[in-house]
Amino acid sequence: MKRINRGIPRAAVPVPGPPSGAESDRRWARPTPGRLLWAAVAVAALAAQLAAPAAVAGSVDPPPGAAATQSAAPDPTPGPPADPAPEPTAAPSAEPVVPAVPSAAPPPAPQPTSAPPTSAAPTPPPTSAPPTKPPPTSTPKPPPVVKPVYRYVLAPATARSRPGVGNGVVVHRLARGAQVQLVQAGPVWSHIRSGARHAWIRSDGMASSRPAPLPRNPRSSFVLVNKKYPLVPAKYAPKTVAVAGVRLTPAAAKAHAAMVKAAARDGVRLRTLSGYRSYATQASLFAHYQRLYGTAYASRISARPGTSEHQTGLAVDFGAANGQCRLLACFGSTREGKWLAANAARHGFILRYPRGAEAVTGYSYEPWHYRFVGAVTAGSMKSQRTPTYEQHLYVAP
Ligand SMILES: [Zn+2]
Repeated sequence: MKRINRGIPRAAVPVPGPPSGAESDRRWARPTPGRLLWAAVAVAALAAQLAAPAAVAGSVDPPPGAAATQSAAPDPTPGPPADPAPEPTAAPSAEPVVPAVPSAAPPPAPQPTSAPPTSAAPTPPPTSAPPTKPPPTSTPKPPPVVKPVYRYVLAPATARSRPGVGNGVVVHRLARGAQVQLVQAGPVWSHIRSGARHAWIRSDGMASSRPAPLPRNPRSSFVLVNKKYPLVPAKYAPKTVAVAGVRLTPAAAKAHAAMVKAAARDGVRLRTLSGYRSYATQASLFAHYQRLYGTAYASRISARPGTSEHQTGLAVDFGAANGQCRLLACFGSTREGKWLAANAARHGFILRYPRGAEAVTGYSYEPWHYRFVGAVTAGSMKSQRTPTYEQHLYVAP
């Protein structure tokens, strides 16, 4: 007994829970079968305590082979890696075989940091969190893009700053066929964006944007003409008037004259190179390019007869007064080319074949070719940053 008393630190004895106070001390001193048993238990507990630290120290010191299996688990120090490993049901088998250094290692690391603060309970959540997190973050977050809805105006209309006839002020006078962005449809008045401005327009004055009747009437300033939508009839000839040495439809000619004048006021001298071209002229022009470059390339830079915008009397080719970059892509970098890109929309013209839109328009970049579509359409395309007329009409491939 004495041996035991001496051997066991006093602090260790009370822990198990013997009575406290002087009496307990005295009773403790007296050996009885029960107390001996109790002391034995205490000794065993102490031994276990001592053994635990020893084991840890031992594993670190002796790296040799014996511990091969053991070291595998403890070395990764990380008691943490051990935790995650068992939990993932599918991955575990693969991780052990391969060092798992690359992808598996990083994920476990974060878990331990969060787990310690809380306790045993949090361990389960972390495991379930990693698997669930990746899928949701990758798929659902990206799609915050909302596609705007557009409507066509059925007849000339006014867009007002507030709903109701006579309310607010007139924000915009919309021509038939103008395209507006629908913000919210209402039974009588709908909230729209006309250009960059918010406004209200009568709901019954708008047609749903898709499918909208395509403007195919060659007499309309909105007519769509490209390789896929040729002129009908193919040999259509518009009524034209002379302007700046070329011929254009009266509406296009008026807008053209105003634009050239406005450019001159800004010190930019625009030269008009080409306007209306008849079916016959276009046929000989295309044949000329065909002979020069072959059919494939000719059709990238020139229209077949019956598919040219020039045949509508609505298209104009511009050049610089000094002849610089005539009908070349570098015209876009000239003073004249830049002025047109910035100001043509105000006068009802759009850059018909922008850079990088060949797949949509069928033609390579032509910074000199402008098409009259009216100021409303040109303005809304500009403010909505619609690059091509095909996209404006929803017929882009
Ligand atoms: Zn042209």
